[in-house]
Amino acid sequence: MGGRLVNPPESIQQMWDGAQKKRASADWALQWLWNQPEVSVVLSGMSTLEQVQQNLASADASGVNVLTEQELALIGRVREKYRELAPIPCTQCGYCLPCPNGVFIPRNFTLYNVGAMYSRPENARSWYGFLADR
Ligand code: SF4
Repeated sequence: MGGRLVNPPESIQQMWDGAQKKRASADWALQWLWNQPEVSVVLSGMSTLEQVQQNLASADASGVNVLTEQELALIGRVREKYRELAPIPCTQCGYCLPCPNGVFIPRNFTLYNVGAMYSRPENARSWYGFLADR
């Protein structure tokens, strides 16, 4: 989610806080990936040594079927909550591009969704101002 998993909306943070085993929100995402038997490599953007160390610790604690049924159910509820919080169900597939009027449609929808998700429409307006013509 472009780094937004690290800083979830308040309603989602409360869901994570209710888990029996406490994890950082990025760790939940990484653990879900590592929990899949098909996954052998997980790549995550890291910009500090601390993030590298956190991700190494996450990988050390990971494994197929490490997550409990309750934890998987919680992740499912969080996923549904993220979908609820985003008013436009755009998957970023890009099929609507190129727009004949030059509108970068999926990016606009992302800005709108993120502004709504965090209840910060002023941020979405500000980011919109930085959009280049596409
Ligand atoms: S708005 Fe465009 S990018 Fe988003 S789901 Fe529809 S076709 Fe795909």
